[in-house]
Amino acid sequence: QAKQDGRGVYRIYSADMQAQESQEFKLGLEIKAALAQHHFKLHYQPIICLETDDTLGFEALIRWTHQTQGAITPDQFIPFAEKNGLIGLIDHYVLSQSIEQIRLWRQNYAMPFYVSVNVSGLAFSEPDFATAVIQKLAEADVPARYLAIEITERALIENIEQARLCLKQLRQHGVKVLLDDFGTGYSSLSYLNEFKLDVLKIDRSFIANMKPRIQDNPVVNTVIALAKTLNLKVVAEGVETSLQRQLLKELGCDAGQGYWFAKALPAADAIKWLR
Ligand code: C2E
Ligand code: MG
Ligand code: MG
Ligand code: MG
Repeated sequence: QAKQDGRGVYRIYSADMQAQESQEFKLGLEIKAALAQHHFKLHYQPIICLETDDTLGFEALIRWTHQTQGAITPDQFIPFAEKNGLIGLIDHYVLSQSIEQIRLWRQNYAMPFYVSVNVSGLAFSEPDFATAVIQKLAEADVPARYLAIEITERALIENIEQARLCLKQLRQHGVKVLLDDFGTGYSSLSYLNEFKLDVLKIDRSFIANMKPRIQDNPVVNTVIALAKTLNLKVVAEGVETSLQRQLLKELGCDAGQGYWFAKALPAADAIKWLR
C-alpha cells in the first residue's frame, strides 16, 4: 500500500516536472521571438526632484504584450531570462531601445532629463559591457550624460572586480550609475564605499512602511543621511501618497518616483505628461 502511494507521488511529481520544463522551454522560445519581432516595449516612469518638482529622469521599464496571454510583467520573465541565458539579449535590446528613444526625444525637445536603464548582473560582469554602451551612445550621437544605468547590489557583488571596472569606465564617460532597490537582500554597507556611484534608490518596501510622524522613520532617515555622507543623491522608490512625498522632502530626500507622480508611460505619453 505504502509503496503504491510512493509511486503515485513520484509519478505526479515527474509529470509536473515535465510540464514545467516544456513550459520553460516554450517561454524561452517566446522571449527570443518577442525580441526579434519587437514585442517588448519600454515604458517610462518619471523621477521627480522633491524640491523643485522638475523631472530629473525617466526610468525605462520593459513591457511585454504577449499575443495570446496579454500583458506579462517583468517579474514573470526577467528572473527566468537571468536563469536561462537570455538576459544578455534583453539587456542589449533595452539599452539600444533607450538610447534610440533619447536620440528621438533630443531631436524635438531640449531634453533636461536622463533615461535610466535596468541591467542585469551579467552585463556588469562582461568585460566589454561598458565599451558596448559607450559605442551605442556614439553611434546614436547621444551624449553620455543622458544615460543612467540601474544595477542592484546583488548584481554588483556577483563579480566585484569586473563590476568595479565597469562602473569606473561608465562613469568616466559620464554615464550615471544608480544603485537600485537599496536596503533589500544582500545589503552590505562596506560595498557602498568601494563602488563609485551617483544615486542610491531606496527600495519601495521602506517607503510603503513609512509612519505619518516624521520622527517615527529612523530607517529612511538614516539611509538618506548615509547617502549624503557618501555624496550620493537619493531617490525614493514607490512614492504613492502625498504624505510620503512630504515626509521624504522634509527628511532631505532628493527625488521621488512612484504612482503618486505617475506610473510608467509609453514614450509619447511621457512627453505629454511632462507638459
Ligand atoms: P525596479 O527597477 O525596482 O522598478 C520599479 C518597479 O516598481 C517597476 O515595476 C515599477 O512599475 C514599480 N513601481 C513604480 N512606482 C510604484 C509605486 O508607487 N508603487 C508600486 N507598488 N510599484 C511601483 P515593473 O515595471 O513591474 O518592474 C519590476 C522589476 O523588473 C524592476 O524593478 C526591475 O528589477 C525589473 N525590470 C523592469 N524592466 C527591466 C528591464 O528593462 N531590464 C531588466 N534587466 N530588468 C527590468
Ligand atoms: Mg530600477
Ligand atoms: Mg527598484
Ligand atoms: Mg526591483
